[in-house]
Amino acid sequence: THAPVITVDGPSGAGKGTLCMLLAEKLGWNLLDSGAIYRVLALAAIHHGVDIASEDALVPLAAHLDVQFIAEGELVKVILEGEDVSNTLRTEDVGNTASKVAALPRVREALLRRQRAFSHAPGLVADGRDMGTVVFPSAEVKFFLDASAEERANRRMNQLQQKGLDVNFDSLLSEIQERDDRDRNRSVAPLRPAGDALVLDSTDMSIEQVTAQALAYIEQKL
Ligand code: C5P
Repeated sequence: THAPVITVDGPSGAGKGTLCMLLAEKLGWNLLDSGAIYRVLALAAIHHGVDIASEDALVPLAAHLDVQFIAEGELVKVILEGEDVSNTLRTEDVGNTASKVAALPRVREALLRRQRAFSHAPGLVADGRDMGTVVFPSAEVKFFLDASAEERANRRMNQLQQKGLDVNFDSLLSEIQERDDRDRNRSVAPLRPAGDALVLDSTDMSIEQVTAQALAYIEQKL
């Protein structure tokens, strides 16, 4: 049986995570945070001392990743090999390493089935870079959520400051730009809107406005 899919792709910090969480909650659908899978793989490579430039070493690690995603209210707990890695997973460092392993074609291939397995009734909201282009090309509804790099760095800085962390705007901005460039320019599954995606620019929009626009479009498409 076929379950409907909504894909949300875009660069880091555009608000995909929040939008997807709200949509999944509103519709009562399942949620796939595909970035978390790449982050978990990066962390597993670090833990096992695997060279993150070695595709040959990363492919078996990707194929046998022992990871569980446990929904706890609005949050999702991520368990890697029995260890709760939910917090370490979100660091810029892990995000950056994730984008390096994500550039390797056979690593992406090894993670495809795991991502598609998230699609089951009543429906799926999928968050990532290539959800609408590669993983779920026949999704019913596709979004590409963008925002200026400056705005995305600003939001990230506010998040980190709320956690009591001291951050430098310029280094945050250059990290974000470096990661986006890598995601946009890789040869396999580069970050780009699917031909049939609705592009939303959240630079000057609140999360409420983005969610309202997305819901109106979903209603019209489903
Ligand atoms: O979305 P998030 O920041 O957690 O993703 C971390 C990295 O994983 C991205 O920078 C990207 O390189 C990679 N990724 C990907 N394809 C996806 C999701 C994430 O290549 N569908």
